Amino acid sequence: MRLVIELRTPTQIEEMRPAGRFVASVLSALVDKADVGVNLLELDALAHDMIRERGAESCYIDYHPSFGASPFGKVLCTSVNDAVLHGLPHDYVLQDGDLLSVDFAASVDGWVSDSAVSVVVGTPREEDLQLIEVTGRALEAAIEWARPGNRMGDISHAIGQVARTAGLAINLQFGGHGVGRTMHGDPHVPNDGRPGRGFRLKAGLVIAIEPWFLHTTDQIYTDPDGWTLRSADGSRGAHMEHTIAITDDGPLVLTARD
Ligand code: MG
Repeated sequence: MRLVIELRTPTQIEEMRPAGRFVASVLSALVDKADVGVNLLELDALAHDMIRERGAESCYIDYHPSFGASPFGKVLCTSVNDAVLHGLPHDYVLQDGDLLSVDFAASVDGWVSDSAVSVVVGTPREEDLQLIEVTGRALEAAIEWARPGNRMGDISHAIGQVARTAGLAINLQFGGHGVGRTMHGDPHVPNDGRPGRGFRLKAGLVIAIEPWFLHTTDQIYTDPDGWTLRSADGSRGAHMEHTIAITDDGPLVLTARD
């Protein structure tokens, strides 16, 4: 299949900064708010309020892919413990030690940014902190390769290498993607690959890089809610994502949080 790769001019990348800053500010607010006793629906409401205040547009609320029974209906994904991706916010109160991943994308001035972060609420398990740390390190390692002249395989390999070294298995069904006027575009950004292979990176390419790992499996299944993806063996997952612009000056993390 032919890839549709859109490269952004430096001016357009400047125009994409407000969306990145907004998405980062929402994730920061969600991380601050997430605590023992907080309902996932309160997190969704907070993000929804911030969208309205900013005059932004949710990428999720009307999202209705072919596999979805109905539109998503919420403005963020909240995945708890054995849920790792696409968690549909529902009436659930966070418990001590829960591992929460929040994934949020919105459009500001016609440009999308997409970012995710995992945190533990209350008293953490050491193994959960380690999983989050490894996932974050995979993201950082991948970002370092997001430079003109490198290959997509370099980014993918950097993620896979961190995971393998930590003894984690990698699921290749879901990975990163191009970001622009819409949330998902070409190219696909796999979470493992061969160095020096694949699509050659160019200045102006804007991509979401999003490693996610489970403690003891690479297999997932879809929850009866039709969206939430859970680990096959009940082990917990972590997910970290940034939207990156590849520029002649190096990787620009549009969704960097303070
Ligand atoms: Mg995302």
